[in-house]
Amino acid sequence: MVKYQHIVDGSGTNLPLGKVVCVGRNYAAHARELNNPVPTSPVLFIKPNTSLVPLKGDIFVPTHLGECHFETEMSILIGQPLTQCTEQEAQMAILGVGIGLDLTLRDLQQQLKEESLPWEKSKSFDGACPASVFISPDKLGDLQSQQIKLSINQQLRQNGNSADMLTPVLPLLAYISQFFTLLPGDIVLTGTPAGVGPLAVGDELDVWLSDAIYCKTQVCATEQEKL
Ligand code: ZN
Repeated sequence: MVKYQHIVDGSGTNLPLGKVVCVGRNYAAHARELNNPVPTSPVLFIKPNTSLVPLKGDIFVPTHLGECHFETEMSILIGQPLTQCTEQEAQMAILGVGIGLDLTLRDLQQQLKEESLPWEKSKSFDGACPASVFISPDKLGDLQSQQIKLSINQQLRQNGNSADMLTPVLPLLAYISQFFTLLPGDIVLTGTPAGVGPLAVGDELDVWLSDAIYCKTQVCATEQEKL
């Protein structure tokens, strides 16, 4: 797989690759499309740094493990440690904003959910987090009015706006930091709007964060013996 590194405003950083903290069901319409209740507090899970790959060129999905869904999510790159932080401290710690895919082996996740088991195998496999470059927040403007868009083979599949997050970015970071210290080089994925669905080998994906970031990628099959 292609090696991933954090890039902010066009330059590589020497930040380590940290964990990826994700929030499930942060858009009501997406919770409903999967027949999940709209949560009263954020649903959190973590992808390891081995899930990170660049969101460009070829991305590899383990198609032999059942349906692999795309979830397109605004991403936040952390630049300072955050432990039990305030929203103001969270704001100061945001180094970059980008877009990423929370790839999800949906059949496997469904099976794990039915057995009341953790989701990691379905969410945290190698390559499960294709991530874009980042731009600094002062260049982007309001974090809560960003368009999150994905098309597959020129067909628009997801078109949401960060205005519809149930828990906006700053309270979300503050909430996460009550449980997990966020470190420089960590990424937070802020949840997917509605429209998720399965990927097929050969699909061409175009992904946008407003008019600030654009990524193009194509889906390939992971060789079976690698997982
Ligand atoms: Zn997600």
